[in-house]
Amino acid sequence: MRIKFCGAAKSVTGSSHLLTINDKKILLDCGMVQGGDRKIARERNEKFLFSPAEVDAVILSHAHIDHSGNLPTLVKAGFRGKIYSTIGTKDLVKVLLEDSAYIQEQDADFILRHFGQRAVPLFQVDDVKAVMRLFQTFEYGEKFAPIENVSATFFDAGHVLGSAIVSLDIKEKTSKTSLVFTGDLGRKNMPILNDPYQIVAADTLITESTYASHIHDSFSNVHEELTWIINDVVKRGGKILIPGFSLERTQELVYVLHELYEDGKIPQIPIFVDSPLSSKISAVFNKHQKYYDKETCIKFLNKKKSPFYFRGLNYTEDKEASKKINEVKEPCIIIAASGMCEAGRILHHLRHNIENPKTLILVVGFMAAGTLGRDIVEGRPRVKIFKEWFRNRAEVVVMNAFSAHADKLELLEYIKKIKGLKKIFAVHGEATECAVLRDNIYSINKFGGKIIVPEYGNEFEI
Ligand SMILES: [Zn+2]
Repeated sequence: MRIKFCGAAKSVTGSSHLLTINDKKILLDCGMVQGGDRKIARERNEKFLFSPAEVDAVILSHAHIDHSGNLPTLVKAGFRGKIYSTIGTKDLVKVLLEDSAYIQEQDADFILRHFGQRAVPLFQVDDVKAVMRLFQTFEYGEKFAPIENVSATFFDAGHVLGSAIVSLDIKEKTSKTSLVFTGDLGRKNMPILNDPYQIVAADTLITESTYASHIHDSFSNVHEELTWIINDVVKRGGKILIPGFSLERTQELVYVLHELYEDGKIPQIPIFVDSPLSSKISAVFNKHQKYYDKETCIKFLNKKKSPFYFRGLNYTEDKEASKKINEVKEPCIIIAASGMCEAGRILHHLRHNIENPKTLILVVGFMAAGTLGRDIVEGRPRVKIFKEWFRNRAEVVVMNAFSAHADKLELLEYIKKIKGLKKIFAVHGEATECAVLRDNIYSINKFGGKIIVPEYGNEFEI
């Protein structure tokens, strides 16, 4: 067997690893390269390190765009095999790819109108249809054969709805081997989803390294902190703005707010989820209740209630409904995209409220350097929104407990429990994170095998 690392090598986007087994080819993930130099990203997305027509099957770990977003380009370039995933992943991929295509079409329009240049989207909504026709879905624990002599199984990764750890049992001419791909690994004790399934044995592991040097805050204090924050802001008559990441984090917030409402911990002020994408994703979450952690969701399921819909919670779809939120004078909670405040409806809400000292901006995700979100977190006295300067007078609170990725200790513990490992590949992390994970597996886990941090395009014989 050979493994070629075609993305997310010493970086966090464009997850894509090509396995060659008995002359057949399986692609693990087909993610879009995002951020960084636009030209390089475009090139990496368009030029594959293999011939798409020669790939026999794609196995998808989960729906995030950095794991699924380059599927339309792969299909346009000649891939005609099957795409294997869980049903939750398939339904989320449809929503996310359609949204991505729509944004690309809008961007191309904007560039043409304002700069007179023709920009070609990487793919369009019609291309997504061709992708969706190739899907075949399996449950967690169900075995399937993506190619001859390979038996594959999905296990719950606990990262986002439908996310999977991929386990492969491989028969070659003279040998047998097993390979596990973590995809993105979730965390224990998070709302909605189950804890990541613990794989107990494998020969080779491809592991993510996103937060290999970070330790996240525990989720156990989130309810108490939110109760305190919300009551405080309501007392002073302010609004709470939450820049939201549409998949998983928004649903987790809605879930916790619903619990606080039900338990009478916070007053029943209006809550707005002002993002059509989040509203579509919540509908997918609502459809697939089989993925919920039964223990934590029992209080809703017993009462036949959905965690994601309740009186007081409003999903706003069109622009008019979004604008109407500005007319609300009393305290309310507004969750709106985008997460880093770079685009989307959150900008309108910030514009209307950031100069009011009664406002609280609740940051629940990572804000990259150079984004408006980072300026807000760093407490810059003035910030630019839609080319206009505003005084930043709002209170800002950062909560780090919402991360959907295993942290340093969780990754090390997870890997330590996999017996029989001979080789580990550390991917899906900045170069420093991959190196920290490698060093810690050697020094803390006392691993006696080999750990490799591959470069983009590296290929290895196993
Ligand atoms: Zn992910």
